[in-house]
Parts: sequence; C-alpha cells; structure tokens
Amino acid sequence: MKKGTICVQGGWQPKNGEARVLPIYQSTTFKYDSSEQMARLFDLKETGYFYTRLQNPTCDAVAAKIAALEGGSAAMLTSSGQAANFYAVFNICCEGDHFLAANNIYGGTFNLFGVTMRRMGIECTFYDPDCPDEEIEKLIRPNTKCIFGETITNPACHIYDIERFARLAHRHGIPLIIDNTFPTPVNCRPMEWGADIVTHSTTKYMDGHATAVGGAVVESGRFDWKASADKFPGLCKPDASYHGLTFADAFGPTAYITKATAQLQRDFGAAQSPENAFLLNMGLETLHLRMKRHCENAQAVAEFLNADPRVAWVSFSGLPGDKYHALAAKYCPNGGCGVLAFGLKGTREDAIRFMDSLRLVSIATHVADARSCVLHPASHTHRQLSDEQLRAAGIAPDLIRFSVGIEDIDDILADVRQALDKI
Ligand SMILES: *Cc1c(COP(=O)(O)O)cnc(C)c1O
Repeated sequence: MKKGTICVQGGWQPKNGEARVLPIYQSTTFKYDSSEQMARLFDLKETGYFYTRLQNPTCDAVAAKIAALEGGSAAMLTSSGQAANFYAVFNICCEGDHFLAANNIYGGTFNLFGVTMRRMGIECTFYDPDCPDEEIEKLIRPNTKCIFGETITNPACHIYDIERFARLAHRHGIPLIIDNTFPTPVNCRPMEWGADIVTHSTTKYMDGHATAVGGAVVESGRFDWKASADKFPGLCKPDASYHGLTFADAFGPTAYITKATAQLQRDFGAAQSPENAFLLNMGLETLHLRMKRHCENAQAVAEFLNADPRVAWVSFSGLPGDKYHALAAKYCPNGGCGVLAFGLKGTREDAIRFMDSLRLVSIATHVADARSCVLHPASHTHRQLSDEQLRAAGIAPDLIRFSVGIEDIDDILADVRQALDKI
C-alpha cells in the first residue's frame, strides 16, 4: 500500500462483522479460560493481551499503522515523545554506557539526555552534525551504543544528513536513532536512508489536532544486533526476568520492540491510553492531506517573510538560499514540514511586539498542529538561558518559531502583514 492508503486503512483490519472503525478497548485487563494460557503470555511464548500497561489492541493497531508508514518491522506507542526517546536509548544503554546525540535536537530531549540520563550513569556527548566525519568518529568510544539525531530539528529547522550518519554508525557496529517528528513518514522515511530506530512525538503532526500527548518507537528489523553482541547484551544474552530468553534469538526482526515492551513498559509504564491512541489514529487518517497543506502554507509564509525588509533572516529548507536546501531536496523532496524559524531586524522587544500583535496566529508552546502558532524560545521555552547559552544550543536569541497551520493562506499572510506593520 502507498502511504496515503496506510494513513487511512493501515493497522486496524476488521474481520467479518467487526467494527469498521478502530474501537477503543477501554479495558485494563483481558480474560483467559485457562491458567496455562495466561502463563504462556507471561513467558512471551504466546502473543496476546493481559494488561494495558504492556499492550492493548487499540494501541497495537495504531502502532502497526505507524510501523507500516515508516516501513519498519514493529512499533510501540508511548505516553509521550519524551518517553519514546527515553525508551529508544535506554533499551540499548545501561549504566556505564555512552551515546552521541546531535547538539541541535529538541530542548526536552537535550535535557533528558544531558542531565537526567547522566544521573542514571549514561553519558551523552553532543556533537555538531555539520562537522566532518573524522571529528564525529573521534567521539565514538568502545562503550558508545548509538547515534541520535532529528530529521528536521525543533526549533531551528536544520536538516540532518541521515544517510551519512547511518553509514558512520554502522561502521562502528551501532544503530542510528532518528526522531522523525517534524517531517513524519509522509515526507521522509529515515529507514530508507539507513536509520535503524525511528521515534516520534505523536503529539505533533500525527495527532494534528492538539488533543493527545503521545509518542512512538519504531524498529527497522534490519540492524544486526548479534554482529555486535558484546555491545548489546540486553538483546543478545539471556534475560533472567524471562526465564533466560534471548530477545535477538527469539524475536529476530522485532527483538528491539519486543524487549522495550516486555521490559521498559512493564517496569516504567509510560504507556499510551487507548483513548489517546484512538485520537491519534483519527489524526493519522488525514496526515497525508494535512502535511501537504502545512508545507504549501509554510512555503508561502517563508517566501513572504524572506521578501520583507523588516525580517533579518528566515530558516526554512524550502527556500532555495537556505543552508539546508540541498539536504531537504534529498530527504524531503515533497516538502519537510510546516515549521519555520525567523528573526526580525530589531530587538527582543520588537519580536515580542510582533507576536503580541498577531490575531489569527496564537502564541502557544505547542507546535505542528492544524492551527498556526508562534513561540519565542528566548522568552518562553528557553527563558532561563542567556543569549550565549541560546546560541550554543543553536537558537538565535531573536528566533521566532512559526508553526504554520492549515488555515487559508490569505488569512495567515494578512495576519503576519498587519503584525509586522505594528513594530
Ligand atoms: C515535542 C517533541 C518531543 C517531545 O514530545 P512530547 O510528546 O512533548 O513529550 C520530542 N522531539 C521533538 C522533535 C519534538 O518536537
């Protein structure tokens, strides 16, 4: 099936007489006739449902749709994008391990990796994705377990060279993990470029209506864990909590997601609720249509801002002069996403006056949903940082993040025009 068909019909495959629309299995628990069958489920010898913290039919149908959209072998839903990125790394890293993450990733992930996971004894080195291979390879140690990056970064809108980093990671026997939240699989499938694990904050375009916080982790099924068995004992050595089962042997191309479900969901419990999964599925049904409109509208806003003398700079890979235009043409030939970043000539106060003057476009922490919104990281999400710290995180102090929605473009542009006139 093509991606547009998977968006509409993937995941839930009703049998004769069953509900056409994915039902919400609003049940914590599931019934079995024999104690023996339940025991086999607990031993992972049989698949089935027993408790919604681990698995639920509504969530699994939506996860299957996302796996199909990404071209992966298996996927799981999580309670948030934060939980997805934590699981993605923690599933293959333990105390004493190390991994690499791009220094321009989403602020929440930056903090998770640099501060919270460090407290768990897992060390993250942040690298500049624009520096040459040799410098990145110097950062790889014997205990380095993965490389992490974002396809399109939030909020700076940089494009990541997935194929290059996949090659680099594989040369060292480690997987590449990609947060593909912004382009979604409609606009980019990182696994086609060599990524091994893909994560999502489904809170953004996938849900699309700003109704449900959620996340997803997808595996390609193609990474050869056993070729680097010493690096990945959790997948390649017997697990005492499952009677000595070895995930890589027992589950092959779905070993990574099975392990994350069986261990991390069991122990941390950051599961998505069936009701949120239902809402997410409603969003996914129109994702292919909405992404196209987001990209068209953002292109128009970027071109409009770029031509205005009051605008100092625009970061949007759809603009021919953009630093990442060539990479975007390679990875997102049909457009990246609806988010762009720009700066106004003038002071922080001018940026604030501009945002306060917008009427249709709202000021919101959220990004990537149907409604247009703006955010000034320096005065909102990153307000504790100095200008210098902001620049180190790849965020210009004057950066305004503009998440262009799917309203009529004439109304969006009229609002931007009148707000620019106020500064
Ligand atoms: C929002 C976001 C996250 C975090 O997701 P939540 O659903 O808010 O927990 C992670 N990565 C990216 C790129 C994001 O935009």
